[in-house]
Amino acid sequence: MDYVGRLYRPPSEADSLLLQVTVGCSHNRCTYCAMYRDPEQRFRTKKWETVAADIAEAAHFSATVRPIRRVFLCDGDALVLSMAKLTRILERLRAEIPSLRRIGIYGDARTILLKSVAELCILNELGLQIVYHGVESGDDEVLRRVQKGSTAADAAAAAERLAAAGLRHSVIVMLGLGGQERSAAHAEATAALLSAMDPPYVGALTTTLVPGTPLFDDAERGAFSLPDRWGLLAELRTLVAQAQLTRCRFFANHASNYLPLRINMPTDRERALAQLDEIIASGDERRLTPDYLRGL
Ligand code: SF4
Repeated sequence: MDYVGRLYRPPSEADSLLLQVTVGCSHNRCTYCAMYRDPEQRFRTKKWETVAADIAEAAHFSATVRPIRRVFLCDGDALVLSMAKLTRILERLRAEIPSLRRIGIYGDARTILLKSVAELCILNELGLQIVYHGVESGDDEVLRRVQKGSTAADAAAAAERLAAAGLRHSVIVMLGLGGQERSAAHAEATAALLSAMDPPYVGALTTTLVPGTPLFDDAERGAFSLPDRWGLLAELRTLVAQAQLTRCRFFANHASNYLPLRINMPTDRERALAQLDEIIASGDERRLTPDYLRGL
């Protein structure tokens, strides 16, 4: 397979074949993001011949070694590809790998909104089933500060469009992204946005300051400070308490988190809140994941 740079994929795509159809991220400005900062990861679309050769290699593997059921299209916002390019890739995948059951992709509000409902329906019919969307915050001030390139209203519109097209939507939000200063506003606005989006999957992960990013530099000069672990748990509590989700698997078990939780919303909400309240009231740091075990 032709892989450029380090590849990233959602945890739930661990068993998927990674097919790199773009390199890097067309936006690449989010101040917390360290994923595509190497010069070799400068954004570009991979040549069709390269993608086609990778699909042929995967098809051979699928036919001779183990059937491939899932494919994840990389890199950071592959949904930015034109309809012509995406449909060509999906059609070739379906034609060459008959065992394929599901295709996933990263997209953000910008790239989802580049496609109409009708176009998203076509992608769905060709096998695209799930879009992983880094929403990060529902607070427009936080989104502006981290240069997300989209607003909470954009994210809500993107959710509506995906739902209308029958595509599953997996939403990622980031605890702590507003810093101590906007912690409460960030958590409350994010809960409100999740209610508006009502996605079937939510992943809450903890903001990590990565050297080489603008957010890390802000923290170094004192312009940004992450909430402490109890502040981060308070944000998580706000999300669990306030997000009105009709049928959602809410994951807060990312390696970056201090308290791993998996919640079926709304069924498990009260149990999760009781657990959070009990741990917060205890103030016992030994009950939280120690920093050396957090997968940062
Ligand atoms: S859109 Fe995603 S991949 Fe691109 S810079 Fe922002 S967080 Fe990183």
